Amino acid sequence: MKDGKGLSEYLNTAGKKELADLFRYYCEPATAEKRAALSLWANELREKYYGSKVFFRGLIEFSNYCQNNCFYCGLQRSNSKAKRYRLTQEEIMECCRKGYKLGFRTFVLQSGEDAYFSDTLLCKIVSQIKELFADCAVTLACGERSYNSYKSLFKAGADRYLLRHETANEKHYALLHPSELSLSNRKKCLYNLKEIGYQVGAGFMVNSPGQSLETLAEDFIFLKEFKPHMIGVGPFIPHKDTVFADYYKPNSSRTLTVLSLLRIMLPKTLLPATTALGTVDEKGREKGLLAGANVLMPNLTPAKHRVDYSLYDQKLCTGWEAAEHLPDLARYLESLGFTPDFSRGDYIDFQTSTQRLT
Ligand code: SAH
Repeated sequence: MKDGKGLSEYLNTAGKKELADLFRYYCEPATAEKRAALSLWANELREKYYGSKVFFRGLIEFSNYCQNNCFYCGLQRSNSKAKRYRLTQEEIMECCRKGYKLGFRTFVLQSGEDAYFSDTLLCKIVSQIKELFADCAVTLACGERSYNSYKSLFKAGADRYLLRHETANEKHYALLHPSELSLSNRKKCLYNLKEIGYQVGAGFMVNSPGQSLETLAEDFIFLKEFKPHMIGVGPFIPHKDTVFADYYKPNSSRTLTVLSLLRIMLPKTLLPATTALGTVDEKGREKGLLAGANVLMPNLTPAKHRVDYSLYDQKLCTGWEAAEHLPDLARYLESLGFTPDFSRGDYIDFQTSTQRLT
């Protein structure tokens, strides 16, 4: 591929086999030259739409109770070793207050699938956040819910929703999830969210058990068709209390390549350099930003609960993760040529005011 434009066109038009071949070229092995070319093109496109900005979101992991049994996840309901917690509404507000003072204007409320947080309760929480912090965006990441539930939460003021599709291949989906969960419902949720008017995030784990270059190609094809506003990708990391405990020793390499390719395929996407990336590689987050990512999500969860939101082993909750270290982090990003941005950081083409009227 001679230039970024050519690659962008290719990614947007190629079929499954061609994409898998392209991934083979860039991933096996991922040489420094190939990576450098990808990063260069990815950064040009990020610059074009978002400049050198890195958007900050304050992450609040408000419950680790989960009724699902995703085989890869440490929070799965059958993990009796998980120490479960829920934040109260007041504790969530306290996290927001602290976050607001630190400068955050987006709060991401993430949880397991916890029925305790009924529509009524979650709507109350969302509307209180919007009341107290009117200039902030609220992003939810609480899993699969009904159309009406998503609609009520949107009416209560939620702006965005993150729901990774995990894999766009049916067989692969069934390898990662119990039979009561289906790819079709996952996708339906994503389309419902978009129809309601949310800015929507899809995404997947890189190197998840059973992932191949072909299933990765299907992920890209799905993302190209769905056109999410945000894409969450990070390396799969084994959790000791799951069936995939000894699956492999994770690294950042393929995730960095995937981040660049996603930026090139969908240049306007908001793309986080995830905690998982920072967990497998000390410099993972900066490498992620340099590969084309443009969002960071420091953790505002009360310190005593952070270790318990254990999706995978060794999950980071200090350093870059800890919102308390924000000023140092901002300075460091500037030294790398980035501009820390604490605005709401909406998707570039998103008209909040008109969408909200519907
Ligand atoms: N219940 C919510 C939030 C789940 S946790 C939901 O269903 O969306 C958020 C993401 O963490 C998941 O979508 C998954 O992609 C990721 N995750 C879970 N287990 C992981 C693991 N072992 N390694 C890396 N990422 C993992």
